[in-house]
Amino acid sequence: MTKHTSYIGGKWVDFGNYKPNLNPANTDDIIAEFSYGDSNAVDQAVLAAQKAQNGWANATPQVRHDLLEAIGVKLADRVEEYGTMLAREEGKTIAEAKGETMRASQVFKFFAGEALRLGGELQSSVRPNVDVEITREPVGIVGLITPWNFPIAIPAWKIAPALAFGNCVIIKPAGLTPGCAHIIAKLMDECGCPPGVFNLVFGGGSTVGDAIVKHPAIEAISFTGSVATGNNIAEICGQLRKKVQLEMGGKNPMVVMDDADLKLAVDACLNGAFFSTGQRCTASSRLIVQEGIHDKFVKELTKAVTALKVGDPLDSSTQIGPVIDEAQLQSNLDYIELAKKEAESVIGGERLELTTPGYFQAPALFVGTTNDMRINREEIFGPCASIIRVKDFEEAIDVSNDTEFGLSAGICTASLKSAREFKRRSQAGMVMVNLPTAGVDYHVPFGGRKGSSFGPREQGRYAAEFYTIVKTAYVFAG
Ligand code: NAD
Repeated sequence: MTKHTSYIGGKWVDFGNYKPNLNPANTDDIIAEFSYGDSNAVDQAVLAAQKAQNGWANATPQVRHDLLEAIGVKLADRVEEYGTMLAREEGKTIAEAKGETMRASQVFKFFAGEALRLGGELQSSVRPNVDVEITREPVGIVGLITPWNFPIAIPAWKIAPALAFGNCVIIKPAGLTPGCAHIIAKLMDECGCPPGVFNLVFGGGSTVGDAIVKHPAIEAISFTGSVATGNNIAEICGQLRKKVQLEMGGKNPMVVMDDADLKLAVDACLNGAFFSTGQRCTASSRLIVQEGIHDKFVKELTKAVTALKVGDPLDSSTQIGPVIDEAQLQSNLDYIELAKKEAESVIGGERLELTTPGYFQAPALFVGTTNDMRINREEIFGPCASIIRVKDFEEAIDVSNDTEFGLSAGICTASLKSAREFKRRSQAGMVMVNLPTAGVDYHVPFGGRKGSSFGPREQGRYAAEFYTIVKTAYVFAG
C-alpha cells in the first residue's frame, strides 16, 4: 500500500495514524494511505513557515514566478497521470478530471505572471512636496482549508496567489481527497520550493483544520466548503481579528424563458445540474421555467437526463461518475424521498448497483415544485435538480433571488432586454447568459453574495485583495 505523509519545512513528516482514501466508483480500490497529524503538526508547520516567511516575502518576483510557472508546466505535462488519480479519488469523469488538472495548471501559470505584475500607485498628496505611495505587502502565513469536490483546482487557486504575493502557506485538504494535495506537495518539492514556504498537513477538520483557524501566528484563513463549517470559521476569525475568506454553498437558479433556444437551454441545464455528479457549488439546482416553454422543456430535459450514462469515471463513455461517499449518497436519497412527497413527480434518483461496489445514483429531476419546498431551499450537492414553473420574467427573477444563497445564476433567453435585466437584478456573484451556471474562467474573479461567500473574491487579479495588505507611505522631499 502506498503511504503518504505530510510535507512540512521541505521534509516528508510521518505522524503515524494512517487513513485510506477510497475510489468512490470501486470501494475495493484503496488509492493510498495518508498519515494524519493533529494540532502539534500545525505547530510544526507554523514554525517552518515562520522561518521561511521573511525570505519568501523578500524573494524577487522572478523567483516566485519561476516556481509557480514550473508547477503549472508539470501539471500540464502530467495531465494524464494526475487526471487519472483525480478521477479515481473524487469520482468525476476522466474528461472532467483532466480538465480540472489543466485548470490547476492554468491557475499556477496565471499567478506566475501576477507575481511579476503586482504594482502599486503613486498619488499626489494634498500637502506640498509630499508624495503618497500605495503598495501591497504579503499578509504573512496563510491557512488554506479545502473541500473534496475540486481537489486540485481549489487548492491551486488558493496556493498560487498566496505564494505569488509572498505569503507562506499551510494547507489542509479534505479527508476524502488528500491525493491531489499530495501531488501539489510533490511538485513543490520537485520544483525547488524553499523549505517552509509551502506546508501540507493531512488531518481532520476538527483537529488540524481547527488548529489552523485558531493558531495566532496564522494571519489569514481562506476556506471553501459547507456553510456550517464556514460560519464557524468566520466566528472564530472575527474574535481573533483574522482576515478570512469563505466560499460556501449554493442553490443556483437557472431561468429558462419562453424565447430561449430549447436545445441550448436543455444542454445548459443538463450540464449545469448534473455534470460532475452535481457536486459543484455552482451547480444549477433550481430550473425556473416560463410556462410557455415549460412542457416542451420538461419533455426534452427528461429525455436527456434519463439517457445520461452513469458509471466508472475511467471509462471514457461515462457521463456521470459516482457520488463521493456513502454519507453524501444517503443524504441525496433522503432528499429524493422528500421530493417524492413535495414534488408532483420525480424522475430517476434511485441507487444503482453496477459491476463494482460504489456510490452510484441515477440523476434525479423533480418536476412540479415550488420555491418554498425544502428541496428548493437546502443545498443537496448531488445530481438532483428541481423544475419550478413561473408566469413571466418578473416572477422568474423574484424566485431566482428568493434564496439565502447567491453564488451563480443563469438565464437562457434570446431577449437582450431580459438578459440585461437579469444581469442587473440577480443577487448572485456570477451571472451567466445562455451558459450553464457552472463552468468559469480562471483569470477573472470567482465568488458569491449572501450566504454563499464572505470576504474578498478569489481568482484573477482580485485575489490580491485577500493575499496582500495595503500600505500607504508618505514622503516629504523637502
Ligand atoms: P466541509 O465544510 O465539510 O469541509 C471543508 C473543509 O473544512 C475540509 O477540509 C474539512 O476537513 C474542513 N473542516 C471541517 N470542519 C472544520 C473545522 N471545525 N475547522 C476547520 N476546518 C474544518 O465541506 P465539504 O463537504 O468538503 O465540501 C462540500 C461543500 O463545499 C458544499 O457545501 C459546497 O457547496 C462547498 N463548495 C463551495 C465552493 C465555492 O467556491 N463556493 C466550491 C466547492 C465546494
